[in-house]
Amino acid sequence: MTASFGSDCSYRLYDRALKSLVGGVNSPVRADPRPTPAFVDHGDGAHVVDVDDNRYLDYIMGYGPLLLGHDLPDRVREAITKAVADGPMYGIPTDIEIELAEFVIDHVESVDRLRFVNSGTEATAAAVRLARGYTGRDKIVVMRGGYHGGHESFLVEGTAADRKPSSAGVPETFADETIPVPFNDEAAVREAFERHGSDIAAVLTEPLLGNHGIVHPVGGYHESLRNLCDDYGSLLIFDEVITGFRVGGLECAQGKYDIEPDLTTFAKIIGGGFPVGAIGGRAGIMQAFTPTGEVFESGTFNGHPVTMAAGLETLRFAKKHDVYTHVNELGERIRAGLQDIVEDHAPEYTVAGTDSMFKVLFTRSGSEATTDNCTAGCKQQLDCPRFERCPKTGADVETGETDRWKRTFWPAMAERDVLLTPNQFESQFISYAHTAADIDRTLETYQRVLSQSG
Ligand SMILES: *Cc1c(COP(=O)(O)O)cnc(C)c1O
Repeated sequence: MTASFGSDCSYRLYDRALKSLVGGVNSPVRADPRPTPAFVDHGDGAHVVDVDDNRYLDYIMGYGPLLLGHDLPDRVREAITKAVADGPMYGIPTDIEIELAEFVIDHVESVDRLRFVNSGTEATAAAVRLARGYTGRDKIVVMRGGYHGGHESFLVEGTAADRKPSSAGVPETFADETIPVPFNDEAAVREAFERHGSDIAAVLTEPLLGNHGIVHPVGGYHESLRNLCDDYGSLLIFDEVITGFRVGGLECAQGKYDIEPDLTTFAKIIGGGFPVGAIGGRAGIMQAFTPTGEVFESGTFNGHPVTMAAGLETLRFAKKHDVYTHVNELGERIRAGLQDIVEDHAPEYTVAGTDSMFKVLFTRSGSEATTDNCTAGCKQQLDCPRFERCPKTGADVETGETDRWKRTFWPAMAERDVLLTPNQFESQFISYAHTAADIDRTLETYQRVLSQSG
């Protein structure tokens, strides 16, 4: 058992960081752990080791990019080292950009042209600009509780009828053009189209809500979005920044759910651990980007050779080895195990996730025990006895927010060396480096912590 999360050296580093970095961190969620975040010394397979020499089983995995864990396979490492040795970047084309593009195009049905950028935020911002330029319309429909990064167009909250910026610094006018609707609510999106249809450039959605709970689409939901977009001449954009090359393997979530979006955004895994983003889709739409079209998009680091090498070799490794089978089997194992544990100790909680993503949502409604739930994570199945009670929208997820998660559960797991995402609604990830023994130890830890307090 670790002495205390974020002990001695981490404490001193955080104290020092508070004087040079805003809030001591470079992304706000990293400040969540109390009293201080742990500072990482190095990664090791499925573990991270902090500067106080505490070793944690890591389910944050960089918030998604680290499909293979913290140790890069030799081929990936060699490709990165070679790209670095050749010269870090040029601002002049390189062949590795074509190779990664071809790999994505070969595996993702809806994509036949790509533009590489440097983050998921850049990808979603550019995809929306492309949709607006291509359709000549301004409004976009997004899902409440969906996450697309820190761009003005996505920092809007509320309802279709009453919406406002969700961050200081975002002009009110952005809320005019962004219409949030609840996920999984076909009637709400239909109503938005009935009111604004001829002004809607695109519907932007994650295939499943991956940053806010993990919420599965209810059967038929994506089909209804696809049909509405077709009826009104709007584009359907899938934000596969988290799900891309994780859910549904190399075909991505759109393959798993059998839906063809017009545009797809990628990031995280396709950069193999380096900063990346990409927009992909049919050539007819994608060519609207500069230089072939009129929609401006540009970047000094776009298609960075080191990132391209890391991404390409990571995906090639995943294709050649049993990566998806391994991580998905462990995903099943942990979700099934968690389902048994919550049935015994907290039957009101929801086990969520699919493939190699998982989370226990501390939902509070409906405590009667049932045993024939979805067995390995909420799949929104109509015949599940919990169907009505499992969260279907971002707002449903929020009603489950508890201090128990934040103040007692998460720290107790960390003290027992299991590192979960500190935000109670962000997904956790299983990597190729995790083992069945890791999963079983994690389940024992969940069991111990959930049965103790509460
Ligand atoms: C992480 C994420 C983003 C933002 O990507 P960044 O690289 O952090 O800018 C956008 N959309 C989704 C679905 C994400 O999970």
